[in-house]
Amino acid sequence: NQTPLPCRARAEIDLEALRANVRTLRARVAPHVQLMAVVKADAYGHGAVRCAEAALAAGATWLGTATPHEALALRAAGLTEPRIMCWLWTPGDPWAEGIEAGLDMSVSGLWALAEVTAAARETGRRARIQLKADTGLGRNGCQPADWPELVTAALKAEAEGLVRVTGLWSHFACADEPGHPSIVAQLDTFRSMLGHAERAGIRPEVRHIANSPATLTLPEAHFDLVRPGIAMYGVSPDPAIGTSAGLGLRPVMSLKASVALVKQVPGGHGVSYGHHYVTPGPTTLGLVPLGYADGIPRHASQRGPVLVGDRVRTVAGRVAMDQFVVDLSGDEVEPGAEAVLFGPGDRGEPSAQDWADAADTIAYEIVTRIGARVPRVYV
Ligand code: PLP
Repeated sequence: NQTPLPCRARAEIDLEALRANVRTLRARVAPHVQLMAVVKADAYGHGAVRCAEAALAAGATWLGTATPHEALALRAAGLTEPRIMCWLWTPGDPWAEGIEAGLDMSVSGLWALAEVTAAARETGRRARIQLKADTGLGRNGCQPADWPELVTAALKAEAEGLVRVTGLWSHFACADEPGHPSIVAQLDTFRSMLGHAERAGIRPEVRHIANSPATLTLPEAHFDLVRPGIAMYGVSPDPAIGTSAGLGLRPVMSLKASVALVKQVPGGHGVSYGHHYVTPGPTTLGLVPLGYADGIPRHASQRGPVLVGDRVRTVAGRVAMDQFVVDLSGDEVEPGAEAVLFGPGDRGEPSAQDWADAADTIAYEIVTRIGARVPRVYV
């Protein structure tokens, strides 16, 4: 653990909360169901390597990333043992490096199978591939109509010793809207695509479709493995699923800064670019040294909540690139006082979901976009 540096702003990452969340999620699935810790996008802004290590220590057996580069970076950082799957491949991506690193590489179509088999020939090693079915998300993955052709081609590559099909998998479109009719439809399509592949002779090690909301609400979607991301970071996938506390999850990231300046201004004073806030009378303004370059949404101007002292204030005027202002009237606040944008809530601070509400977005985007300029401090 690092001692927090006396810095202008920081994202404190509570790894014990992350471990507790992994244990909580593990307890919600049957003992045979494995857990893949989704650590793409630098672990949703929390720091991929530290979070991957913590998740593995708490019972995760797989790691999941979007790009091969993210997965290779985990291997390079010393995570040589765990299974790592990555699912977002683009023509020309480093398949050979993926094979050498023992990655599980997702294949959604024939172009990808052609590239991975070419890389297997080049390296002289069998590639671990997982076939991705588009069961209705309409994004990545193989359409049901094209599935038989992909399955046949994968079996041929398996017979030639070029690949091993280690997984069959898919992803939900609306798992965060309990009761949405697409959920049952996707499960039916997934079962039928699995059935086809298995009858054709594919023997996967893992079959999986569940993200956080499906892990939390849909036991019939757990199959052999679940792939939670946001819930592991202690954030509810959607208020419709519950609050973090209601789900037994502990928010992992707290975003804090020291108030940089406190000053008095007269009534009628415009604040920040565009003067969208005009002080209603003599006002105490406080400057918070975080802005949209740090991931604070400009869309939360005039709305984002910040705890200073024991009161939650609202962003006054526009969020700028590096800083924003809050109205501190009514309290004695010294420069250097702590401003908490979000955290677990036990001190009355707002949550990442509160910022998402203020910016018309989802809490995923709030934590993931906290910029590289904000040091992550592991506590
Ligand atoms: N699986 C895949 C393929 C994903 O892209 C994601 C993230 O969007 C996840 C799992 C984890 O999703 P969530 O953060 O909702 O648990």
